[in-house]
Amino acid sequence: MASHRIAVLPGDGIGPEVVSEAVKVLELLKKLDPSLDLEFETFDWSSEYYLQHGKMMPDNALETLKKYDAILFGAIGDKRVPDDVTVWELIMPIRKQFRQYINLRPVKMLKGVPSRFEGEDIDFVIVRENAEGEYSNSGGRLYPGLEEEVAVQNTIITRIGTAKAAKFAFEYAQKHGKKSVTSATKSNAIIHSMKLWDDVVRTVAEQYPSIKLDSYYIDALAAYFVERPDDFEVVVASNLFGDILSDLGSAVVGGLGFSPSANLNPEGDFPSMFEPVHGSAPDIAGKGIANPIAQIWSAALMLEHLGRADLAAVMIEAIEQVLVEGEVRTPDLGGSATTSEMGSAISEALQQKLLVKEGF
Ligand code: NAD
Ligand code: MN
Repeated sequence: MASHRIAVLPGDGIGPEVVSEAVKVLELLKKLDPSLDLEFETFDWSSEYYLQHGKMMPDNALETLKKYDAILFGAIGDKRVPDDVTVWELIMPIRKQFRQYINLRPVKMLKGVPSRFEGEDIDFVIVRENAEGEYSNSGGRLYPGLEEEVAVQNTIITRIGTAKAAKFAFEYAQKHGKKSVTSATKSNAIIHSMKLWDDVVRTVAEQYPSIKLDSYYIDALAAYFVERPDDFEVVVASNLFGDILSDLGSAVVGGLGFSPSANLNPEGDFPSMFEPVHGSAPDIAGKGIANPIAQIWSAALMLEHLGRADLAAVMIEAIEQVLVEGEVRTPDLGGSATTSEMGSAISEALQQKLLVKEGF
């Protein structure tokens, strides 16, 4: 029986509120299925930690995290600390140093979610390049404060990095029986980096003749996400385009409470990290009313990554059951349930499902 060591990083704002529900569900799964062996260790690296120590995490944080099989992350962001500090001192080092160069973001309409697209068969994934692109720390500012002030921010698109993202997208499509991959581009205006992106994606596509490559300019693609979201199967995008498309995709399937993500290190030489697409939601933090589904779903992606796709599938079924029953709904779903009540309802549904499976 393989034991999986999980590093838990709740972070800021609603992060700890939703992470505790995900851990609650995982602890229950452990009880119900003795073949699932998970060990959790929680780290308090956050804005609070920064205010006390002057850094988001200790100097040996990456050394520490390296020893875990996966990282379950909540969200960070706190108005007392600049957002670029929280992002660049915590999330980015983990994503970049652990070669989590794929950010996989399912966009799936769950049963029972009130949305204008309710009942439509929306089920696709966004494969976001997660290591380079527009989110490179390259550039600078000259003449601060002067009239002549200038800022330069470089976008770094590499043949190798783009090929890895494209290959992942096509492999994913092939493995899941999908017929198309859609690439987000803007090579009509951003002519150096995005033309290289297009060239590389096209070259990779040639190795997968049974899968169709569609390429759209990002602005048009944003409109198609709203006009015909059921047409997409796998969308591959650069770091910034993938980030923006993810929030848009989540709006289509019911909001940020329904968007999980997996920062994957496909080679497995470092741990992968699982977190919702949403941030720390300071407007609702501390009220106990955040929707924990994106976080619980992220935990399901983690189990899938750890080889337990069976349990991940039951978790999604349990989430859908609670949504369809509609008795327990957080305010983003028009209800008045708390984060914890939603987590408990999902736990109960999960328990029922697993006990039925075992024939009790
Ligand atoms: P956000 O995702 O935190 O919130 C956007 C809106 O969605 C808010 O109205 C919020 O209340 C709502 N929302 C988000 N998650 C929800 C949930 N689970 N249930 C119900 N409603 C939910 O984005 P923002 O407001 O742009 O950013 C807030 C902070 O989060 C900033 O400091 C930002 O830097 C940070 N952030 C962090 C991450 C991360 O940790 N990976 C990602 C995005 C933003
Ligand atoms: Mn984002």
